[in-house]
Amino acid sequence: MHRTIAGPAVTCPDCKNQTCHTCRFWLEKISWHEAGDAFPGDTSIVVARVDSVHFVVRPMNSTLPARHLGLGGRQITFRFDDGQTVTSNDVMCQGDIPAWFRSRLPDNAVIVSQSTAGSRALFGPAEGIDTDQATSAPAEESR
Ligand SMILES: [Zn+2]
Repeated sequence: MHRTIAGPAVTCPDCKNQTCHTCRFWLEKISWHEAGDAFPGDTSIVVARVDSVHFVVRPMNSTLPARHLGLGGRQITFRFDDGQTVTSNDVMCQGDIPAWFRSRLPDNAVIVSQSTAGSRALFGPAEGIDTDQATSAPAEESR
């Protein structure tokens, strides 16, 4: 079904048959996409892809402190290709979709607004991907 796109070969640098940690992480996201961008087991959660960055958008959460929410509680509004908009303060970012999977994980949304609250970069350390930076958040701002 899927044909190789003409042009320079873009393949995983770590494996040849999509069995490495990175490939398995993203093959799971492809399965969500192929199921209609449905998050397994919880229809209140939606999946957004913006400029080849992958997000899991959980419902607005007014009970937990911001530090326990995705992206530090930053409020983001996504507009999906079907015109639906979803605003959440509990968005998880999985980071950049690898080039060799982008044709199977096309963008489905744009970000139309986000709060300026929070000090973390929007595209900071990615959830679920090996990184040593996950705990190296910037020092607290002096007040
Ligand atoms: Zn791989």
